[in-house]
Amino acid sequence: MTYPNTQLLIANEWVDAQGGKTLDVLNPATGKAIGTVAHAAIADLDRALAAAQKGFEVWRDTSVYERAAVMRRAAALLRERADEIARLLTQEQGKPLGEAKVEVNAGAEIIEWFADEGRRVYGRIVPGRNLAATQMVLKEPVGPVAAFTPWNFPINQIVRKIGAALATGCSFLCKAPEETPASPAALLKCFVDAGIPPGVVGLVFGNPAEISNYLIPHPIIRKVTFTGSTAVGKQLAALAGQHMKRVTMELGGHAPVIVAEDADVTLAVKAAGAAKFRNAGQVCISPTRFLVHSSIEAEFTKAFVAYTQKLKLGDGLADGTTLGPLANSRRVTAMAGVVDDARKRGAEVLTGGERVGDAGNFFAPTIISNLPLESDLFNNEPFGPIAGIRPFDRLEDAIAEANRLPYGLAAYAYTKSFKNVQLLANKVEAGMVWINQPALPSAELPFGGIKDSGYGTEGGPEAMEAYLNTKSVAVVGV
Ligand code: NAD
Repeated sequence: MTYPNTQLLIANEWVDAQGGKTLDVLNPATGKAIGTVAHAAIADLDRALAAAQKGFEVWRDTSVYERAAVMRRAAALLRERADEIARLLTQEQGKPLGEAKVEVNAGAEIIEWFADEGRRVYGRIVPGRNLAATQMVLKEPVGPVAAFTPWNFPINQIVRKIGAALATGCSFLCKAPEETPASPAALLKCFVDAGIPPGVVGLVFGNPAEISNYLIPHPIIRKVTFTGSTAVGKQLAALAGQHMKRVTMELGGHAPVIVAEDADVTLAVKAAGAAKFRNAGQVCISPTRFLVHSSIEAEFTKAFVAYTQKLKLGDGLADGTTLGPLANSRRVTAMAGVVDDARKRGAEVLTGGERVGDAGNFFAPTIISNLPLESDLFNNEPFGPIAGIRPFDRLEDAIAEANRLPYGLAAYAYTKSFKNVQLLANKVEAGMVWINQPALPSAELPFGGIKDSGYGTEGGPEAMEAYLNTKSVAVVGV
């Protein structure tokens, strides 16, 4: 399948932007333009908003069984089309084709999970003080949702939002990433082809700030959900606050990996290594700060470097590639900056540390040790294929270091002691903690952060609450 030009989706029709403006889409493995994406004008946003309002009025009054049936049909289409959608995703985003396929198939599973969960949104009957009264607690969809999703998981970042929104009866207007537009469009096409009523889902692209500044305050929009950087998330949350809109924020992280004295080092290297270099480290839950007990630091570091040197950097479409290019040239510049800062502070770059080739956004997987605590890598989210290692002597000190930063998204730990597990589970400040295993962010578990990593969750039954209003109704029969 050749890479398509992507249009806007308004009221179940694929349309060019008014005025015909487009942006180029680049393949990060070559740096070359492969297609275009429509750049919405305000008039397009107005049409998309009106459609979202109409769609909401229909979908809200559609039974949960019918909603679930449409969502399940969309998920089935997504699975059927997984191979071709994964190829689009790799061409525009860079990740190895195998990872892209996993993302698409996981997307189908998440949609199915939310479809089922939607059938279990129950209210309550509360005993009244007046025996003649019936007191009911009703759960209602919050209304049309504006979603802003990033380029690192073009499918997955949408399904976690669209799943909960559609299951609860909301309509969903998404500003998806301009850099990776074709796979989100292919995802929404599955819903259109599954028979979703016009306006229940919509898709726009354009200038992110212009679109968020227009949609968030707009009276039609009742809920805002954003995944992206902490800096942008704070701006959007502030704007939503001014207009009293419900908000879910899934923001940046800087995940610590605590490798305790009694850890299974082989497991730690394999599991944390796979998590580190998945999607070239452009993952909000990517392990970034490796805190290793000083008695095993040398053993762990040697094995981690060996693991890293076996990765095969290349075009995500090529056979055998295990690490693709970075998604855009901004990340290459950022990675070079992180390494420069570390070198200037006397750290040791054990492997990688530089851009590879002139074409595309390739950066060698990098491990750095002897890092001062003040280094950029130990303070700011790297969002790329770089890991930093620092030793510790007491588990309490490692936990204090894990909690030092304002981020609080994911954390990892390796230990065989139950006492350590209890300490880690209770004391590490993070929304998600994985111990002795890789990250497995399944639909049924809450997914989200605390502190500067945001609020709200995009998994488990809690994710549904974010899209529901609670209404109490008390009735005395007359
Ligand atoms: P960025 O902060 O400019 O953008 C991040 C995302 O937010 C992009 O998808 C962008 O289109 C969107 N965005 C930016 N300004 C916006 C606005 N005013 N209104 C609405 N959306 C807006 O940075 P970037 O260079 O695209 O990405 C790098 C940083 O973003 C990383 O360092 C990382 O912290 C963060 N990021 C996080 C995630 C995540 O999964 N939490 C995903 C992608 C990027």
